[in-house]
Amino acid sequence: MVDFQPILDQIHKNIQQCSDKGRVADYIPELSKVDPKKFGISILDNQAQQFSVGDAQERFSIQSVSKVLLLSMAFAKVGDALWKRVDVEPSGDPFNHLSLLEMENGIPRNPLINAGAIVVCDVLLSQLKNPREEFLQYIRDIAGDDSIHYDLDVAESEKRTGFRNYAAANLIKSFGNLEHDVEDVLDFYFHSCAIAMSCEQLVKVFYIFMNRGKCMANNHYLELSQVKRINAIMLTCGFYDEAGEFAFEVGLPGKSGVGGGIVALLPNEFCVATWSPGLNEKGNSKLGMLALEQLTTETGLSIF
Ligand code: GLU
Repeated sequence: MVDFQPILDQIHKNIQQCSDKGRVADYIPELSKVDPKKFGISILDNQAQQFSVGDAQERFSIQSVSKVLLLSMAFAKVGDALWKRVDVEPSGDPFNHLSLLEMENGIPRNPLINAGAIVVCDVLLSQLKNPREEFLQYIRDIAGDDSIHYDLDVAESEKRTGFRNYAAANLIKSFGNLEHDVEDVLDFYFHSCAIAMSCEQLVKVFYIFMNRGKCMANNHYLELSQVKRINAIMLTCGFYDEAGEFAFEVGLPGKSGVGGGIVALLPNEFCVATWSPGLNEKGNSKLGMLALEQLTTETGLSIF
């Protein structure tokens, strides 16, 4: 068993010395209000021991991190039929890139870019009676934490300014790969991005991807083969056009969001979440990436 606490304390110290914290996302106006000095990190290991430093209990907008949760709920419900609607190739493009290449014949390149997650939302709308409520409950159940909620101000803010997501959804609809109304699909999509959680909560949710599909309470959410696929998609597609750099520097499957959160995991060993709202030019948390690079270099624990 690794005692992660001294390592996290050291990383926290190193991070506090960094003057360039990156830039807080402002294309969603509500996100620009967040204090750029925030920094938190939390690790949950395979013995359910939790280690944290900094602002690890403060909630933030998980944004694109929720795409993995949409994917896991949809994959568990419809199985491999999902791959008829969305592909599994890295795009090498920014998260909101809009091009026909990124969705050949209306099939988005992968489920972790916006276009792909919008299709996954459409799949879920066909499966759920109350999509918003049921998706939130799914996450609460996995974490064993009913306090996880939607930040409705963020959802509203994104709805007002999400012109590119409207464009993407309309493009997909024109190819016949959306069954529901654009408005309904995007309402669900914007809410999923607006889930608020802390690093300590996030690692509990992502525990299922570290623990062969089972949550901390030992309930089964995914088959092992499904976990393998989701982790592979995180590794190859989880960091916009910086997935290669993340694999190179950190060496773990994971997912980032423009709220400054990153979650990553080493299968069967541990799950880690960081939060620092300043982003690098690719849209990934600048200090979060640095902290994770130090973590896997210092401990020697990565999938490689
Ligand atoms: N809600 C954001 C959007 O659709 C998600 C972006 C992200 O975190 O990558 O623009």
